[in-house]
Amino acid sequence: MNKTLVINNISRLVTMEPGPNRESKLGVIADAAMRIEGEHIAWIGRQADLSASSNNDIIDAKRAVVLPGLVDCHTHIVHADFRQGEFNLRSQGKTYKEIAEQGGGIMSSVRSTRAALEEDLVASAKARLDEALSRGTTTLEIKTGYGLNFDAEMKMVRVIKELERTSPIKILGTFLGAHVVPAEYKDKRGEYVRLVVDKMLPAALASHAISACDVFVEEGAFTADEARSIAKKARELGLALHLHIDQFADGAGGMLAAELSALSADHLDHTSEESAGAMASKGVIGVLLPGASFFAGRGKYPNARMMREKGVKLAIATDYNPGTNPSLDLWFSATIAVTQMGMSCDEALLGITRHAALALGSADAGKIAKGLRADFIVLDAPDEYFPLYRYGVNFVKAVFVGGKLRRGTL
Ligand SMILES: [Zn+2]
Repeated sequence: MNKTLVINNISRLVTMEPGPNRESKLGVIADAAMRIEGEHIAWIGRQADLSASSNNDIIDAKRAVVLPGLVDCHTHIVHADFRQGEFNLRSQGKTYKEIAEQGGGIMSSVRSTRAALEEDLVASAKARLDEALSRGTTTLEIKTGYGLNFDAEMKMVRVIKELERTSPIKILGTFLGAHVVPAEYKDKRGEYVRLVVDKMLPAALASHAISACDVFVEEGAFTADEARSIAKKARELGLALHLHIDQFADGAGGMLAAELSALSADHLDHTSEESAGAMASKGVIGVLLPGASFFAGRGKYPNARMMREKGVKLAIATDYNPGTNPSLDLWFSATIAVTQMGMSCDEALLGITRHAALALGSADAGKIAKGLRADFIVLDAPDEYFPLYRYGVNFVKAVFVGGKLRRGTL
């Protein structure tokens, strides 16, 4: 008989799957225990129903709360320099446009990332992954998009592959060669789109580090037609599609996401009811990035309540990036979603777990159930809502990935 690990004395086991004898939309089992065999969950239930076995390692959770590992479904963690100088300039009243005209913004990250050594990009991203893990993130998406030429985008792809190979966090890579049109293609943008479609996407796919493609659709980035041609190629290659849409204005991005059957449409700060309805009808997951709206400081947030009423499934991600949200704290993003966007605490917790996993096409992540990989976190808190309320404090006491303790102690 295999040696198994039992975790008992769990005050609340938050499965994220409602069901009989479970509380709330989050499917909480009170006074629970779980049994893990190898990398997978073999049993969950009430501690009173746990069958006795002498061949177990037993961990006493001491009345802690257990949740699935968090899922951050939208990040840009591979980059070179930080951009704290721009933050300072913004605090003095400079606009994004003025900062970009002075060489700041995304193109500043592009310059430093192009110049950086591959091993330095790996090392700095590893440190950020470590930070995310300590806050409970066990699945994380990473986009390219600071290379914007063939060699530098492929360098980012290789960095992502190395992170996939070495990090305890499950990484999903997304190709975002269509982040912005690089300065050298300003007057020949069609040529850049062709480079993305004909050369970059096939080469990125061949690396086996990428499972999705993303396009930034916005005035100043890419048009809907350009997104269509990139999405067509992505589909031919078997890649899932994410879209950055409606961040600064309503560009009918939700309609486009529905037309292209995108897996997710992200940002949605200005998305209309009509767009939200189209997304819901095609099952496009809406990924809200509250930290980016918060950090922009304009007081404009996506209308989560409207999107929920239209039937859009909503996830929450950090959008970690060195310009518009340098934070990997998913809990804080969830708190902002509650206080500024009209989400309930239950919706926010689903948003950083089960729904975020759906936005990545990883239906097995973000929940706790028999047979799934044992990725879960242990919270030193009275209930699952407490970290949203006492925001800014890290209540994650231990992080398990594939049944192994990877952070903290119990
Ligand atoms: Zn983004």
